[in-house]
Parts: sequence; C-alpha cells; structure tokens
Amino acid sequence: MNPELMQSGAKRLATYQQKIAQSPVVNTASGGSMSLGRPHQSGELDLVHGRILYLEDVSVSFDGFKAINKLSLDIAPGELRCVIGPNGAGKTTMMDIITGKTRPDEGIVYFGSTINLLRHTEPEIAAMGIGRKFQKPTVFEKLSVFENLELALKTHKDVRSSLFFRLDSEQSDRLDEVLHIIKLTGHVHQTAGNLSHGQKQWLEIGMLLMQEPRVLLLDEPVAGMTDEETERTAELLLQLKGKHCLIVVEHDMKFIEAISDTVTVLCDGAVLAQGPLAKVAADERVIESYLGR
Ligand code: ADP
Ligand code: MG
Repeated sequence: MNPELMQSGAKRLATYQQKIAQSPVVNTASGGSMSLGRPHQSGELDLVHGRILYLEDVSVSFDGFKAINKLSLDIAPGELRCVIGPNGAGKTTMMDIITGKTRPDEGIVYFGSTINLLRHTEPEIAAMGIGRKFQKPTVFEKLSVFENLELALKTHKDVRSSLFFRLDSEQSDRLDEVLHIIKLTGHVHQTAGNLSHGQKQWLEIGMLLMQEPRVLLLDEPVAGMTDEETERTAELLLQLKGKHCLIVVEHDMKFIEAISDTVTVLCDGAVLAQGPLAKVAADERVIESYLGR
C-alpha cells in the first residue's frame, strides 16, 4: 500500500475514533437502547450498557497463593475510580489482569459490553485504548519532551507506519494540547533526563495521552512527588476525567480525597468496601485492615 493511502487511512481511523470518543454514552438504564443508530460490529467498543470495564469473579493464584480472589469491578466510561488498600492487596495484579500481562485462572474481564479482554494479548489491549502508567517513570531520558511525545505517536498502531511518519496538523494540534495538559509547554525542548521526578511522571502520562486512550491505569502516580507536584497531578487527572476513564491506585489519602468520586478498597484480592471516600473511610473493616485509627 502506498504512503498516501496509509496516511489517509490513518486519518480516517483517527477521525472515526474521535467521533466515537465524543459520542454520548447510551445507557439502557435511562431508556436508551440504540447503539448510535448503526449495527454493532465485533471488536468495536460497545458502551450501550454504560460500562467500559467489567470484571466478574476474577481469581489468580501464584504458587497456590490467591493474589486475586473473586474480584468484581464495574467501571463507567469517563469515570475516575480510585483503588486503595494495603500492600499485597492485589492492586497491581488487578492492573496486570486488565492489561493482559497476567492471565487470571478464572473469571470474566470485558472492555465495553462485547470485547473479551481474556482473548487478547497485552499489545492488542494497549492498541485498543487501555493505557498504563507504571510506578517508575519510563521516558526516554536522552530525548526532548517533544521527541518523547512524538515517539509515542509513532509507535502507536501499525497503520501509522513510522517509516513515512510526519506529524500532520491534527497530530501537531494534539501534541500542543497534551503539552498544555501535562504543564510542560515551557519545557518542550528540554531533555527529559533533566526534568524533575514529577515532570517525568507527567511526560509519561502525556505519552499515553498522545494515543488517546479510552482507559488509563495509573499505579501510584504521585509516589515521590513534592506536595506541589501532587496537587498539580490531582488537577491534571480531574481535567482528564470524563474524556478518559481513569483507574488510580494510590496510598496518598490527601491526593485520593482531592480526586475521588467512588473509592474501591481492595484487601486480600477482593473488594472490601466501595463508595464515596467518607463512607469507606468510616467502615470498620477498612479502618481495621488499612487506614488504622
Ligand atoms: P499491591 O499492588 O496491592 O501491593 P500486588 O498486586 O503487587 O499487591 O501483589 C499481590 C500479591 O501477589 C502479593 O502477595 C505479591 O507478592 C503477589 N504477586 C504479585 N505478582 C506476583 C507474581 N508475578 N508472582 C508471584 N507472586 C506475585
Ligand atoms: Mg502495587
């Protein structure tokens, strides 16, 4: 296929994905039942039931130890869900299962109503729009902020062949927008290695945003950040909520308080409590197993 055709194909795909991203979620509970007026195609994200991620009775054992034990989760599109719980509760393993890094022994894991994530590989899941930020920042230290973000686009999706890659105006607008969101507009030509720890974390979030993920999983995003960086990260995530679904694992309760709607407390691989922070924080079992008195 020639490069022009590939580029126009990539553009059409991007426009289409953007259209899907902007389309309202039709929730059957509120009476709507049509799927954007067209038949659903397999492999396409279906949000008709008002959920973007669905886990049911998921379990996984490592050497006979149940790290995840009948875990169920139901996450709505655009939701910002906080996950807290003691060390070893299974928070990171939960993310490993959603992203295809770890296969559960049993249970159901769906992306939208129709995509069975257990049938897909880790790279396929990432390409479908489930992005993940690990604890440690993994930016390319020798490259500039701009080059890091550009690279995140290049490596995304096979249709955008890096061989013929040049930023089109849409992508260049996206890059500017992301720079603004991650508060690094003034650092665009700075070498990533010279950024502060917090800025590196934001850059990595920016690299994920370049790929316009539907779901973003963040594992302890503010660990090691200064108080000011932590506050700015809270602002950043609140800004992303709604457009992206965010699942945030954190121990910093002040941060959780700043961003949370629904909080899920994980303990021994299962949901111990769930609801608004005030409610779960007052739960005796949560106090006992995690928060303390
Ligand atoms: P959290 O992120 O909540 O601290 P983890 O998901 O990292 O907890 O770990 C849950 C439990 O599963 C821990 O006891 C951990 O040692 C164990 N575990 C996680 N991943 C593996 C693995 N790949 N092999 C063996 N044990 C693991
Ligand atoms: Mg962890």
